[in-house]
Amino acid sequence: MLDDMFDYLEHLRERPVWQPAPAQVRARLRSPLPREGADLATLHRTFMDDVLPYAVGNAHPGFFGWVHGGGTPVGMLAEMLAAGLNANVGGRDQVPVEVERQVARWMAELFRFPQGASGIFVTGTSMANMIAVLVARRRALGLEVRDAGLASMGQGLVAYTSAAAHDCIAQAMDLTGIGRAALRLVPLDDDFRMDTAALEAAIAADVQAGLKPFFVAATAGTVDTAAIDPLRRVAAIAHANGLWFHVDGAFGAMAMLSPELAPLLDGIDAADSIAFDFHKWAQVPYDAGFVLVRDGELHRDTFAAAPRYLKREPRGMAGGSPWPCDFGPDLSRSFRALKTWFTLQAYGADRMGAAIAGTCALARYLADEVRRRPAFELLAPVALNIVCFRYKVAGEDADDFNAALVADLQEAGIAAPSLTTLRGKVAIRVAIVNHRSERRDIDAMLKGLEELAARRLAVAR
Ligand SMILES: *Cc1c(COP(=O)(O)O)cnc(C)c1O
Repeated sequence: MLDDMFDYLEHLRERPVWQPAPAQVRARLRSPLPREGADLATLHRTFMDDVLPYAVGNAHPGFFGWVHGGGTPVGMLAEMLAAGLNANVGGRDQVPVEVERQVARWMAELFRFPQGASGIFVTGTSMANMIAVLVARRRALGLEVRDAGLASMGQGLVAYTSAAAHDCIAQAMDLTGIGRAALRLVPLDDDFRMDTAALEAAIAADVQAGLKPFFVAATAGTVDTAAIDPLRRVAAIAHANGLWFHVDGAFGAMAMLSPELAPLLDGIDAADSIAFDFHKWAQVPYDAGFVLVRDGELHRDTFAAAPRYLKREPRGMAGGSPWPCDFGPDLSRSFRALKTWFTLQAYGADRMGAAIAGTCALARYLADEVRRRPAFELLAPVALNIVCFRYKVAGEDADDFNAALVADLQEAGIAAPSLTTLRGKVAIRVAIVNHRSERRDIDAMLKGLEELAARRLAVAR
């Protein structure tokens, strides 16, 4: 199994990025519950034949869709060790918890957070953002909200984020009972960043209306264009108005690992909380989200509860309080920290930062190539590692044409960008996240787009 996975990772570029699963493969997954055990070698073969070839392909250097990390062999091996140990990292006196605490301290160091900061692993930034909303809600309404709930005391809470924010911020409003309608989507400036004058005006209008502004989420690296909100300015506005300042840095926060890029995140150290993923730009295998909170006591107060079966003791295995389960909604938790701890140590922060900066250099290369070709137009400035552009067509619906072109390219297995819509225009969106991507992968994508577009136009004529 190890040999197969090393071969797979070594020869990725020779495979299609993605291919749809044939009907007979899907049909084989419809067999009933097995009553008897099967031979492991047979299962391994089934995995190689039916599962591995039909994944989405984000390990492939030509994968540029959404925001997916590429993974590494180091992460894969650490995942094997973690699974073998099978630690439940919800709590108790054990070194796997200390490993997680060390990663939290490293992150506090990276983001220049104080000593009392806390942090835990979660599935992803969606969950991390929700935890931040809950801590901010607890700060705004006091400890009583945990018993009384929002119905009796949460009237009029309002939160702010930009119109380019990830939808999981709105989802967090929904899941925490505050409601999507309580989230103001602040308009964007010309560079797709939060318009801070509009933020100030929105807060003032809500205060005027007797509402309770409590939370603002800035984004460091938006999904559409990788724009970075003016963090220092948003921090100042949030704190002047008594709001919690949260940063959704799902992928972008990891730019802190690169001394060249870190200044772009100026102001992130003023955040009350930061949500980010190690499974995107930091290349740790899925899943490995993280939430860092400046005030660790407030964070613990938001979740800690000690039912009788989780009583803490001064000695024995029930020692070592507080436990990770005191900082989030999960009790049983996997050892996500290990693959992150291995990745950070095996490669080192500098090399990881250089890989991240390398993807931004590739994005600039792609933007230059797009500008050089009259058939294409760039649709947004390139802030970090995402390039949005499209194929110009006369006499056809450009939106439909570009959407079809991306599907053609994905189905050809050549490269896999995704789509988004910017100011009403459908854009081919190329997010370069994978450390394996090189110029030749960008060149192959552009060549594929040009050839497939020519074919489409020939058929139309
Ligand atoms: C990916 C992403 C998220 C969601 O993170 P998950 O790890 O998928 O839950 C949130 N915000 C931004 C800006 C993202 O890029």
